[in-house]
Amino acid sequence: MGHTLSKLRLAVKELTRLTQLYDDIYKRLLASPGIPDASKPTTKSFWTVPASPISTHISKELPEHADIVIIGSGITGASVVYNILEYVPSGSLTIVMLEAREACSGATARNGGHINPPLWHDYADLKGVYGEKEAKTIIKFRLAHLREMMDVAVSENIVDHCQIREVETVDVYFDDARFGTAEEAFKVWQMDMSADTDTFYAADKESAIKVCYCILEGKYRVMDSGYSASLQNFGLADEVSGAIIGAAGAVHPYRFVTSILSNLLKRHPDHFFLSTHTPCTGIHSSPRGYTVVTPLGTITTPHVVHATNAWVSHLVTSLRTKVVPIRGNMTAQRPGQALSRSTLDGYRAHIFYRDQGYDYLTQLPDGEHELMFGGGFAQQNKNGLSEVADLDDGSLNWGITNHLGGALPHYFGPSNWGAEAQPSNSSERDVADWPSGRMKSFWTGILGISVDGRPWVGRLPPIMTRRHPPVPLPGKSPLTSAPSEWIAAGYSGEGMPHAWMSGKGLAYMVLGVEKETGLYEWFPESFIVSDKRRRKANVEDVLDRFRK
Ligand SMILES: Cc1cc2nc3c(=O)[nH]c(=O)nc-3n(C[C@H](O)[C@H](O)[C@H](O)COP(=O)(O)OP(=O)(O)OC[C@H]3O[C@@H](n4cnc5c(N)ncnc54)[C@H](O)[C@@H]3O)c2cc1C
Repeated sequence: MGHTLSKLRLAVKELTRLTQLYDDIYKRLLASPGIPDASKPTTKSFWTVPASPISTHISKELPEHADIVIIGSGITGASVVYNILEYVPSGSLTIVMLEAREACSGATARNGGHINPPLWHDYADLKGVYGEKEAKTIIKFRLAHLREMMDVAVSENIVDHCQIREVETVDVYFDDARFGTAEEAFKVWQMDMSADTDTFYAADKESAIKVCYCILEGKYRVMDSGYSASLQNFGLADEVSGAIIGAAGAVHPYRFVTSILSNLLKRHPDHFFLSTHTPCTGIHSSPRGYTVVTPLGTITTPHVVHATNAWVSHLVTSLRTKVVPIRGNMTAQRPGQALSRSTLDGYRAHIFYRDQGYDYLTQLPDGEHELMFGGGFAQQNKNGLSEVADLDDGSLNWGITNHLGGALPHYFGPSNWGAEAQPSNSSERDVADWPSGRMKSFWTGILGISVDGRPWVGRLPPIMTRRHPPVPLPGKSPLTSAPSEWIAAGYSGEGMPHAWMSGKGLAYMVLGVEKETGLYEWFPESFIVSDKRRRKANVEDVLDRFRK
């Protein structure tokens, strides 16, 4: 009896602790994410060194009126402004982009650089919820990103600078049960989308597998279909249960975005204005237009684009607990001396799955071939719940950082890792005083998690902004759609295969050219924002996902 009582007491104590934990999380989720504060120091993202010449750009004089004001200068804001200015005749629209801190200083500058579209990973779930047609549209939308971003990089002449490239991607499983589930999901996806799955193969320990390297030329193309290999060829630890190999992309996200913004500033000096260190602190509406408030003054405009991702619910309060900020952790590490065979010097990327959660890895193709390694969320005490609604990218999570600092030699195994690297003196990137050990840099960044798992893109209904849209003025800005606030946000952990095309889709919506551009032939309908969807989206679903 005494034994049962003490067990009960322990259970009650644990329940109280959990209740307290979830109460704290809810309190944080209900609070405003605020505005990124430029006066507070941040952890130093490896990508942002050296800083872009436009990092602190402020256009000499901000116009008092603009056709479109974009809030946020990450990949979403960059895509919206790029795709609008590419579409309309030069000089026909004036666009202002406001950024609270330095140019591209949010999640885009602090991520893993992996353009890795989820495919079989959630295809069956998507099919179950939205039907086969929409599930396929979503998968194709994700797959389209690498091609599109590569095309943009070519036309902007930034391919080498932003290191955009196709990589072989390896999903590595250390857990038989998880590998089994993944194989099943892979088969469902492959059966439904065989035309898009040529380059993916599941490999288990016993059977030799066929690996096909491919390049993107409009569509995946098999280059070397005769090549065969077993898991051993991938230079992974002996404990691996299996792997799924395919094609994905990698990019230097900070350089991709800042180079595009820089080119646009040069091409449109009188019509594109970037104002860094200029937070939007409020938006008021009147029948004549929106008034966007900043510390440098106000701007009137018929269109406001919210490209603020994790911070979106500060200005669009109805999205609180719908797009949820979560802090992610990243590292830049020197590779072990023998690792080249495993990572192909920047041309092979990895996702590692153990019993819970996952970690992700890309590698730079030059310099010291730094390993850009992130994740650690589920491995952290309390399933990383402490990171939910934590908007402090000026500090690190102790447990996650330690996990990231130690996991890689285990994932590859000691012989594949080899001796620790000696820092190279010749690395031109080392303008910062990086430490000389394996760990060059640790940092955090803030993701925007969509609680229903889909990005939020489109025209924000007034019921969600709680502001009336201005009245369309006849003859005014005929190049754009009816005045409104707009959004593209909430890509969860996968911004690289969602944000650029969401921004492109949104650009066409703002211009009102959905039909002319055939937008809905490729844009997933289920991403479109509506108040009905907002009411249905339940934050507990996302907390549930983290608990698993
Ligand atoms: C640690 C980490 C690792 C990740 N790894 C990957 C990965 O490997 N692959 C992948 O696909 N995705 C990854 N992601 C997710 C991806 O980075 C994001 O989904 C994507 O960058 C979001 O881009 P964005 O432009 O919408 O937002 P952001 O890049 O966050 O840009 C929003 C901008 O808005 C500004 N802002 C906010 N409020 C205001 C205001 N009121 N006024 C003015 N400016 C404001 C912010 O300062 C910020 O610069 C990762 C994210 C993190 C944090």
